[in-house]
Amino acid sequence: MQYISTRGKAEKSNFCDAVMTGLARDGGLIMPEFFPDFSDRLEQLSRLGYCDLAYEIMRPFADDIPDNVLHEIIRKSYLSFRDSEITPVKRVGPVYILELFHGPTLAFKDVALQFLGNLFEYILGKRGGKLNIIAATSGDTGSAAIYGVRGRRGITIFVMHPDGRVSPVQEMQMTSVTDHNVFNIAIDGTFDDAQAIVKSLFADLEFKDRNSLGAVNSINWARVLAQIVYYFYAGLKIRSETGFPKVSFCVPTGNFGDIFAGYSAAMMGLPVDKLILATNENDILSRFFNSGVYKAAEVVPTISPSMDIQAASNFERWIYLHFSGNSDMVRDLMRKFALEREIFIDLQTAPDKFISAGRAGTAEALETIKRFYGEFGYVLDPHSAVGVSVALSSPCSKTPIICLATAHPAKFPQAIKDATGIDGLAKAPQIEALKTLPTLKFKLPSDKCAVANFIERKLSSIQD
Ligand SMILES: *Cc1c(COP(=O)(O)O)cnc(C)c1O
Repeated sequence: MQYISTRGKAEKSNFCDAVMTGLARDGGLIMPEFFPDFSDRLEQLSRLGYCDLAYEIMRPFADDIPDNVLHEIIRKSYLSFRDSEITPVKRVGPVYILELFHGPTLAFKDVALQFLGNLFEYILGKRGGKLNIIAATSGDTGSAAIYGVRGRRGITIFVMHPDGRVSPVQEMQMTSVTDHNVFNIAIDGTFDDAQAIVKSLFADLEFKDRNSLGAVNSINWARVLAQIVYYFYAGLKIRSETGFPKVSFCVPTGNFGDIFAGYSAAMMGLPVDKLILATNENDILSRFFNSGVYKAAEVVPTISPSMDIQAASNFERWIYLHFSGNSDMVRDLMRKFALEREIFIDLQTAPDKFISAGRAGTAEALETIKRFYGEFGYVLDPHSAVGVSVALSSPCSKTPIICLATAHPAKFPQAIKDATGIDGLAKAPQIEALKTLPTLKFKLPSDKCAVANFIERKLSSIQD
């Protein structure tokens, strides 16, 4: 498989190079040249366990890695999950819940970042050299990335989170890792500010090359790839169980990474009826899919902080597919958005085949948490609750709806208490164990130069 850039001005690369490069050198996002079609193998795939399925799905995308090595990387990556099914699906009331939070940091980001950590280690082992990862996090990517790469030789990681805008548990999960090659930076700004700094550091090719920068945000194609697997896993399972020919998914969305994985699965022949995109008050994407206007607004902090995003970096991948791979169009639209913070795409004459979208605010999310606990004894985290709220208010679909549960409720104890009135309802031993650990973070202004200087200073002190 060859990989290309959505902006059409970067050289093609193989999978390992695409993984190490992160963002394409022309500032675009990396995409596979085509999506392999699995539609005539669904029966066979539906009988596989998670890791064997992951291997079948990933193999055509990662054909520069020997088959046995790929299989081993996958096997190792999911040993750290607490559920033998890795991503189990449960019937809860009117919906199916796809639990994606059984990894080490209790959010779906682990599914991709455990895999990515092992991939980096394999590629560095083969090629030598170092990798310095720069990441922006709205709360969950940071800890999942840190747990994905800590203790691995040749890798240093810098994670920027918006100061005061992640949940206390999320912050503790990151800052309690004080290894010498892990740096937590509290940025005086929003997630979008942090993400913009990451993108501008990657766009500075001289800085990028000098410091061997790598990306773990969902701009990295390997993350999307790892997430495609659970759409197949859950979709095929519920399809066989219910006899419905197609299923729908509801995806709590921030950066458009997770739902883009679902989109890719649909393009690869998974029988998907609808992908229901759910946002909280930060609803740029749900407004877009209902009006065609993509217009950034101020970020509002909510109880689902990992979705408090107004500039979804993976949206560029959708634009690329929507315009059938026309990178001139992508470049024009992205340039216009950077300047004017607003673009329009006509969805009336060319509607999207899969995506429908809705929004659920804080009150609805809290109500859904309360109702699901009261009626079904099931505790949803606030992100998953946004998804379930939107799924239940969507125009009645004839197909089963699989709602992605993206985080464990124990990451957001305050929201669970506010919703149910019960303290300590959602606990996890992994989180309790962190409470006595020392923490370390560095505060920096939301400024590219300040971050660049910090990174180079720390890297030279490690190398001494
Ligand atoms: C990251 C995250 C999301 C949003 O996922 P995207 O891929 O950014 O759309 C939703 N819920 C939780 C818990 C997350 O950590």
